[in-house]
Amino acid sequence: MKILVVNAGSSSLKYQLIDMETEKVLAKGGCERIGIPGSLLKAKGNGNEKVYEQDLPNHKVAIELVLHALSDGEIAVIKSMNEIGAVGHRMVASGEYFNKTTLVTPEVLKTLEEKTFELAPLHNPAAATGLRACMEVMPKTPMAIVFDTSFHATMPEKAYLYGIDYEDYKKYGVRKYGFHGTSHKFVSAEAAKYIGKPASALKIVTCHLGNGSSISAVDGGKCIDTTMGFTPLAGVLMGTRSGDIDASAVEFLARKKGLSHADAINYLNKKCGVAGISGVSSDFRDLLAGEEQGNERCALALDMFAYQTKKFVGAYAAAMGGLDCIVFTAGIGENTPTVRADVCEGLEFLGVKFDNKANNENEGRSGGSIREISTKDSKVKVLVIPTNEELVIARETAELL
Ligand code: ADP
Repeated sequence: MKILVVNAGSSSLKYQLIDMETEKVLAKGGCERIGIPGSLLKAKGNGNEKVYEQDLPNHKVAIELVLHALSDGEIAVIKSMNEIGAVGHRMVASGEYFNKTTLVTPEVLKTLEEKTFELAPLHNPAAATGLRACMEVMPKTPMAIVFDTSFHATMPEKAYLYGIDYEDYKKYGVRKYGFHGTSHKFVSAEAAKYIGKPASALKIVTCHLGNGSSISAVDGGKCIDTTMGFTPLAGVLMGTRSGDIDASAVEFLARKKGLSHADAINYLNKKCGVAGISGVSSDFRDLLAGEEQGNERCALALDMFAYQTKKFVGAYAAAMGGLDCIVFTAGIGENTPTVRADVCEGLEFLGVKFDNKANNENEGRSGGSIREISTKDSKVKVLVIPTNEELVIARETAELL
């Protein structure tokens, strides 16, 4: 079976067509600037690439063009749309309404729209627009929704609750949900395979370090805690997000800067993190270059990021009562040896023996292969594992069917 994976944003729509027999990506691409002048689709398939520069007024037209591209000339990978067995859609937030991958029905769609949109106002409505467009264009094809939050549904109450009035948690659903679940799930399972033990026998800390970063404790194959919270603002500081901050400091800052509640949250999401600390950039490549040129605030931002990540590794080892493996993944985790080295420095007491040489080899995208960056006699394995969120979405969709 072939599964189409769709990740729709407010003005973008990324896709991959995956053959589930081989788990090979047959075609991939993305529409940009949907609803904005200058829209286009960049599509790859059959070893070729084609750019369609054409008006994409809405997601329906965009998905129609994607389907056309899948069977178009030199980039064609299918003959007809009927070859697509199902579509898996990425959705950021589920609230407590969905705790697993879900087949789309009118009722599911209603709950999604009425209950979850306010939990992720930037992401869920956009993804739902993509979903509705697909349903219109492919009315006979089953659609599944794969939530970023599902893998975290196994967290115990003591981990996901905030110290607020319990009745308010019940009434409003304010609790930790966690995000990047498909990535944490994928890399923890890959780590178990690599180590050659069942996931049920392993205690793993997965560090998804990208533009948005989150760290998870995966005990026996199940997530028991994670750093992101009610929204993806919590945890370590990120590209432009503050990470954890005392709520009273937010009120104080808002008052001093004359910001509304919404503006204060926007500030914490867009103007803070390593970009705010460095005053230079949210991109770690720029921070590394800045540090090399003697920019102290770039160095400070990098230092804070590694320090905060390290603290969660320690906290989660304590929460699990042990540690067998640390995994680094995503843009920074896969590509930035100095961050990995700084996070692991001083963790010898946990049984980590870091291999600096292995860590510095093969810089840049590791191209699909897992790399071991701890010494052979290290009690804790430290691994770099390229994430593959699309494959998880395709697998979950196929399993559901
Ligand atoms: P997103 O959360 O947007 O998917 P990514 O996982 O792609 O983000 O991560 C983006 C981050 O990864 C950026 O800070 C970028 O600097 C960093 N990054 C990507 N490639 C490299 C590289 N080759 N070297 C260093 N950092 C990199």
